[in-house]
Amino acid sequence: MKAVIAVPPIRDFYFTPHRASALGARVLARELVESGWDASLLNLPLAGKPRNIPLQAELGYLERFLIPLETGPLSWFTSYRRFGPEYSESADTIAAVHPDMVFISCFAWAYAEEARELALAAARRMPDVPIVIGGHGPTSLPGYFLKSPHPVFPDMPLFSLVVSGEIEGHGRLLTESMNRTGSTDRYLDLRGMTSRTELRPVAGESIRRADRRSISIIFTRGCPRGCRFCSNHICHGRKFRSSASDLWEEEVIRAAGDTGKLNLNIEDDNILFLKKNLFELIESLGKQFPDITFSAENGLDYMLLETEDIKRLKESGFTNLNLSLGVLSGEQRARENRDGDPEKLAGLIRYASEIGLPVTTHFISGLTGDRVEDILGTLSFLDHLPTRIGISNFYPVPGLPGFENPEQFLKCSPRLALGSSAYPWTGSLTTTQMMTAFRLARWSNFRKEQESGRTGTPSEEDLYDTVLQAAERHSAELHTIIREGRIRKVIPLPNLDSNMIEGFFSCRS
Ligand code: SF4
Repeated sequence: MKAVIAVPPIRDFYFTPHRASALGARVLARELVESGWDASLLNLPLAGKPRNIPLQAELGYLERFLIPLETGPLSWFTSYRRFGPEYSESADTIAAVHPDMVFISCFAWAYAEEARELALAAARRMPDVPIVIGGHGPTSLPGYFLKSPHPVFPDMPLFSLVVSGEIEGHGRLLTESMNRTGSTDRYLDLRGMTSRTELRPVAGESIRRADRRSISIIFTRGCPRGCRFCSNHICHGRKFRSSASDLWEEEVIRAAGDTGKLNLNIEDDNILFLKKNLFELIESLGKQFPDITFSAENGLDYMLLETEDIKRLKESGFTNLNLSLGVLSGEQRARENRDGDPEKLAGLIRYASEIGLPVTTHFISGLTGDRVEDILGTLSFLDHLPTRIGISNFYPVPGLPGFENPEQFLKCSPRLALGSSAYPWTGSLTTTQMMTAFRLARWSNFRKEQESGRTGTPSEEDLYDTVLQAAERHSAELHTIIREGRIRKVIPLPNLDSNMIEGFFSCRS
């Protein structure tokens, strides 16, 4: 039996290489092969060149924040983009394999519409071929997929099977469900089911980044902590589980092949629960791949880090440290059920800076109960420290506390649940305030880069100076750079919250 596993093309403002690692789809491919299938993976967001597309109607409220001519280090996104071919073309690619079954991997609820559109195109092209869907999206809201009708046979469902939870260790159950002839039960719920097989690490595609190939990998699943904003448990549960650490290195070596210079991006949220194993791995890999570098772009839990760990991470090949702050103030932490110690974080950031390890500290804006003062307080705290600021807008996933009602998600576009959509889900901050916070974070990063050593050409440096001086003169306005033909110039940023900007600069003075 031949199976194609397709990761749908997506529409978004951006797509980072580690989001393209398709780890869930790879786990499925492994399961199917081990259950006797001939399975191939089509990672469609990586096929062809990304291209600009018109902003979709439901995102029209973002139009006034887009500056298409914007360029340089202060930029937000300048256009909306498509990553991967048209759905009909994607369906042709799938059909060319002559599959007996198509599996669609929907790795986030926000891309549910893309997954459904790909399924519709595949069903039109191959009406008799069953389509199965799984991943974080269907796990969060299976009803959206279960209700979709087939485009050629309107009395039939689009999806022959909708799967929730982890497929790992359950390939056999999947096959059995598909073989139940005449069954009307089209929902396979694997959440909380114990697998009889051992968990294994899984590495993604090797993607070129600067002078090296980057591979994302995950060793563990699940998290026992209960941060209110986090959706990890919806698919992976609250029990922390790890693959056997003696399999870790083997998987890296398998995935690395002969890639040349390698960066290993460790995707696990909680890899520091296994700090000893982590160090054993990276130190051993350092002996085998002398110029290997490491990253953990999802962010490391700073509460589990000590200064000696930071030194060791740097010596082992970490070239940038991503730290997860989440939220800063005690009140926010209590609300979000999140552990934290700002003083400890500040000490670790200063230490990393002293030993020459750049830090990016990530926080979330727009959570329930967030006030403008909370966001300004966090921005100001990080602005005064030697760290880049990574800011993410809160977005809900069906099933998170306060977002349990599926109807709320069925009556609006799933793509409003993208961080890049800056949609005011909780009502605590407006889109304008979230955009302003983002711009302030960019400005802070830009200022620090400028102060740490100039890297631009002389004409760029003049523009950069103008941006910084403009901020001094107009403390309620931020500026950016645009390119008109061969001319670049500094313009004020429109449509931001001037009170917030003023508040930020008054904290700085
Ligand atoms: S944010 Fe991190 S620590 Fe908190 S529940 Fe999610 S995975 Fe666990």
